[in-house]
Amino acid sequence: LTKEEEQEIISAIRTAEKNTSGEIRIHIEASSEKDHYERALEVFHLLKMDNTKDANAVLIYVAVNDKTFVIYGDKGINDVVDSNFWDSTRDKIQNRFKLSQFKQGLIDGIEEAGKVLSKYFPWQYGDTDELDNTISKG
Ligand code: CA
Ligand code: CA
Repeated sequence: LTKEEEQEIISAIRTAEKNTSGEIRIHIEASSEKDHYERALEVFHLLKMDNTKDANAVLIYVAVNDKTFVIYGDKGINDVVDSNFWDSTRDKIQNRFKLSQFKQGLIDGIEEAGKVLSKYFPWQYGDTDELDNTISKG
């Protein structure tokens, strides 16, 4: 990703979070020897994403060389949604990644995640930006 592309992604997060109290973060790394779901969980905790007031943060974890991604939502989300809650977000990302449209995949995923989150966690007056919107790498 170029600097400009990263800025576009950060601004997509900012926009999505204007409609929901949920917090969205992106983590990108080359690959992982661990199971990707386990690794996503680990990153989620490393980024202290489990510390939001309503436990409603979601991590989009991407292992670029492994051509894999995981969408991991916190407990507050899982408690109130169906198991297929993230399907639409997953599909949006997948469709773009298949076309090698990496940046657009993330942006579409962020928009969709913000949309579905807003149904259960609408933005409310006084909501704060609890988690940094920059892209985590490692
Ligand atoms: Ca917030
Ligand atoms: Ca945020």
